[in-house]
Amino acid sequence: MSAGPLAVAVHGASGRMGRTILQILADDRAAHLVAAIDRPGHPALGQDVANLIGRSEPLDVKLSSLEHTPLKAVQVVIDFTSPDATRAVLERCARDRVAAVVGTTGMDPDCERALAALAQVAPVVAAPNFSIGVSLLMDLAERAARLAGPDFDLEIVEMHHKHKADSPSGTAVRLAEVVARTRDLDPARAAVHGRSGPVGARRSDEIGVLALRGGDVVGDHTLILAGAGERLELTHRAQGRHIFARGAVRAAHWVVGKPAGRYDMADVLGT
Ligand code: NAD
Repeated sequence: MSAGPLAVAVHGASGRMGRTILQILADDRAAHLVAAIDRPGHPALGQDVANLIGRSEPLDVKLSSLEHTPLKAVQVVIDFTSPDATRAVLERCARDRVAAVVGTTGMDPDCERALAALAQVAPVVAAPNFSIGVSLLMDLAERAARLAGPDFDLEIVEMHHKHKADSPSGTAVRLAEVVARTRDLDPARAAVHGRSGPVGARRSDEIGVLALRGGDVVGDHTLILAGAGERLELTHRAQGRHIFARGAVRAAHWVVGKPAGRYDMADVLGT
């Protein structure tokens, strides 16, 4: 690992998350933005990325496409894009042995394979949610589901802004996995999405998952544990994208120099 500031590339730099990460990096003396990448044909390609985040001082990095961005001088790529774009950048990272922090959700099997291939040769942190509060929610949810036992029905409700492309959220999927494990359930079979019609009585081995969309909600997740005569609700509400961006930048600092492998936010936070 070099002693100077961390050399970072942001993939998806002009997106909602990408711009939030650029803001944080611009003020992080321990990190140095060396590349900002977005899709081919993006209207801002070639422009200094200071324009993307409303800063008057140039950052001396121009928005570029992946094809035209060398990664040789990059220590870590932070990616918040879409599954196809993520797969492409992970393949480049594997070729150039560059560490990665991946926040993209809704990954398809090709993208998961690219992630596994990168983890063979470089360290990579992948998490559906980089906030500290959601890491705590996962921890508390696991404990609550285990202690409450099978007499309590488990239901998950999430809400996000109207532009979100995947559903349910990656965080809701992870939450369902965490609580399913406490009951030896296969999360893919146990999850029941958005009930409708004459579905009949709820089975005890179901985990209901409901995704709401609307407005500019950054991301709310609730685990409901419903028993006879009482109900416990664990809720996390994200109030700004900076919480995910800060977590991703923290993960970038943590991951460089680690052995090749796949890590998650619990590894970064040491929980
Ligand atoms: P967005 O649509 O605002 O941004 C995506 C960016 O990716 C855009 O700038 C787009 O032009 C760019 N892009 C698309 N195709 C590309 C390509 N081929 N090459 C390079 N760039 C390309 O979306 P967003 O709200 O920033 O979210 C991005 C992803 O991050 C989503 O999957 C979202 O669910 C996820 N997300 C994860 C977390 C987390 O903590 N893990 C938090 C928020 C969002």
